[in-house]
Amino acid sequence: MFNDSLKQLSKRLASREISSVELTTEFLERIRQLNPRYNAFITVDEEKSLAQARHADRKIAAGEMDFLTGIPVAQKDIFCAEGWLTTCGSRMLSNFVSPYDAGVIERFNQTGAVNIGKTNMDEFAMGSSNETSYFGPVRNPWDVAAVPGGSSGGSASAVAARMAPVATGTDTGGSIRQPAALCGISGIKPTYGTVSRYGMIAFASSLDQGGPMAKSAEDLALMLNVMTGFDERDSTSLQREKEDYARDLDKPLSGLRIGLPKEYFAEGMSSDVEKAIAQALDEYRKLGAEMVDVSLPNSPLSIPVYYVLAPAEASSNLSRFDGVRYGYRAQHYQDLAEMYRNTRAEGFGAEVKRRILIGTYVLSHGYYDAYYIKAQKLRRLIAQDFSDAFTRCDVIMGPTAPAVAFDLGEKSSDPIQMYLSDIYTSATNLAGLPGMSIPVGFGDKMRPVGLHIIGDYFSEARMLNIAHQYQLNTDWHLRIPQI
Ligand code: GLN
Repeated sequence: MFNDSLKQLSKRLASREISSVELTTEFLERIRQLNPRYNAFITVDEEKSLAQARHADRKIAAGEMDFLTGIPVAQKDIFCAEGWLTTCGSRMLSNFVSPYDAGVIERFNQTGAVNIGKTNMDEFAMGSSNETSYFGPVRNPWDVAAVPGGSSGGSASAVAARMAPVATGTDTGGSIRQPAALCGISGIKPTYGTVSRYGMIAFASSLDQGGPMAKSAEDLALMLNVMTGFDERDSTSLQREKEDYARDLDKPLSGLRIGLPKEYFAEGMSSDVEKAIAQALDEYRKLGAEMVDVSLPNSPLSIPVYYVLAPAEASSNLSRFDGVRYGYRAQHYQDLAEMYRNTRAEGFGAEVKRRILIGTYVLSHGYYDAYYIKAQKLRRLIAQDFSDAFTRCDVIMGPTAPAVAFDLGEKSSDPIQMYLSDIYTSATNLAGLPGMSIPVGFGDKMRPVGLHIIGDYFSEARMLNIAHQYQLNTDWHLRIPQI
């Protein structure tokens, strides 16, 4: 049952073979057993989850079952959930119990899904390894010596270790796709504005986007059906007609044009990753796809541009954590100014402070034009590169991450090395485009490799179709870590 797809679980619930309470109890038991090793969850509240399961069972008995009714979903601890501790991986919010639900949580509640727990993450979603969490690092189920990736590393680890059938994540520069790749699961960051950011604790608002993490592309489609939709409480939420993301899953791929950017296949990718990606592309050729050479000339600038813009927005967003309204407050201070200083000095970790410093610097008088405005202009050029490429191909493919999962501690003292984990993913956030990662094999030390698929705006259904067809013909997504 732990390996079941959402369709299988939903069928078991609909036929009353199992109840949601039974299903939830099984997953809670598995979390109890495995979480001490992986540290994928920050908060598990069995009573709350079981209360939701009982509610789901009543809905099912009353004939009001939706597709996800009664199914456990692990929620990244960046999503506010009423009555739940919502920490964002930070000491600053280590005592914050949310008084309201995020838009995404509301949607899962309305459909009758069960919140199975809040997953661990890099502090305020800043990181690529989950080592910046105040609640300790997360372990990769494929190898406990390895990081799970970040910042949605808890969600990735939870799904890979089958502690939850599906999970949510957020992606500002790669935080759904890179951990999905490193943990051998599937994940999609939809087009910016598709999933509500209301109640999703803000890191860099113009880049942040929520999305699902799951075992397969089919499960991602079914999750997106619940997660997406207009939310008037999010000023950048898009008003579009509701779509069924599973509608194209079964379409054949003949005639598909896959763009291969020469910049992604130049130096930088490790040879084991290169090999797995080449094999995946061969599989796509067999499925009828044609490869097209494209170029994204400004893509080498995406990391520097990201590390001007994301910290700039973060420095502004994080100014709300001042010890006055909610969250942590320092115990010792003489006056108001010292209370602010001590609260922020004690409440934030080193990486968050580094970002606030960089962000404040690039926004300050005299540097604003040189850094922030310049980065905004380059952001436009990066987006334009993709538009040009999509005149010649339907999707773009490459590696999700330059190498397989690294060891815990291996990069934590070298921020630049850590930042380069997102070298292939951050450009899509800068452009607002959808991107996804699916498992396509194993590299060094039998650690998973992810294939990155980038689509044009609102082409999620097509991307999921492309991923699903691959998964129908291969079994990488069905491989399970020995645990
Ligand atoms: N790793 C990137 C960072 O540290 C992206 C994080 C994210 O997507 N939330 O900022």
